[in-house]
Amino acid sequence: MQCPKCKVEDTAVIDSRLSEGARAVRRRRECPKCSHRFTTFERQELSSLIVVKQDGTREPYSRDKLERGIWLACTKRPVSRKRMDGVLAKLEEKWGANKKEVSSSTIGQDVMKSLKRIDDVAYIRFASVHREFRDVEEFKKELGKLLK
Ligand SMILES: [Zn+2]
Repeated sequence: MQCPKCKVEDTAVIDSRLSEGARAVRRRRECPKCSHRFTTFERQELSSLIVVKQDGTREPYSRDKLERGIWLACTKRPVSRKRMDGVLAKLEEKWGANKKEVSSSTIGQDVMKSLKRIDDVAYIRFASVHREFRDVEEFKKELGKLLK
């Protein structure tokens, strides 16, 4: 790991600890040349997790892709990056806990449940984009609750 200050190539790890429910490692590093101390945050990618889509096809899990959908739903809503990161870290832990595969509808449902607790509008947007409502009536019912 390069020193951000003097660009020397080799820096020493002086402390490391797990965070985000052991999915990420926070490392304190020190440069042997200029003694600059800095922190790195290395997230363990869930590269082995496979998403099974509704038509039965499979693709590798992508946090980026899921995050894009979530942030689109959260446009102009008071949802913080930190809060959403925490929610995703917890869900990823659940999805990757026992199995190597998770269905896209499980992901959709879990994200919806979490968004519902955080922000109603983001929840409705996410759910309608992902067509997770069973029918139009159910969608109207959820929308009606918001407008009360
Ligand atoms: Zn340095």
